[in-house]
Amino acid sequence: MKKLIFATHNKNKVNEVKAVFSAYDVLSLADIDYHHDIPETENTFVGNALLKARHVFEIFRTPVFADDSGLEVTALGGAPGVYSARYAGENKNHAKNNNKLLEALEKTTNREAQFKTIIAYVDGANEHTFEGVIKGKIAHHISGSGGFGYDPIFIPEGYDMTFGELPNAVKLQLSHRSRAIAKLCEYLNSKT
Ligand code: IMP
Repeated sequence: MKKLIFATHNKNKVNEVKAVFSAYDVLSLADIDYHHDIPETENTFVGNALLKARHVFEIFRTPVFADDSGLEVTALGGAPGVYSARYAGENKNHAKNNNKLLEALEKTTNREAQFKTIIAYVDGANEHTFEGVIKGKIAHHISGSGGFGYDPIFIPEGYDMTFGELPNAVKLQLSHRSRAIAKLCEYLNSKT
């Protein structure tokens, strides 16, 4: 089976995609014994995703993809965007991030937002990026304990509950990450 590295330390993400790429042996960074953090020094999702994929390809010379995601809030000019994890500080605290965002929108009626994922694929001969977006709005309060990050304050379009309240299966079906992964999958299938 062909090897495909997913340049992430997040086990949940790797398990999610293993089922999708059944024709590939999907390896996480832990599987290939790479335990360093790859600094996300770019200021766009595309830049960070490409940086991570290129970095791992240079070392292992095996086809690799990497992702970078975040939440973009219209009334905040697209913030927190690439800084989503560190919005309320370098210690990357999800509860503090959610509270800071709710405060920032306190006097705003426009609560439009979207989650975005960029996946970058690198195999030495090809470099491609794939975008996945889920539109929605920011709730007025934190609701639900499912998911992670901004899930308890994000209401996807067409629903009246947050990702924190909705069943995980619904999120998996709709999410920005699933949408970007589906595009990568389509691309890889078309190559073989
Ligand atoms: P990452 O690039 O996937 O690690 O995401 C960076 C940050 O964006 C996370 O730490 C979260 O704050 C936020 N984020 C990304 N995807 C999601 C999601 O599916 N739900 C909630 N928050 C997310």
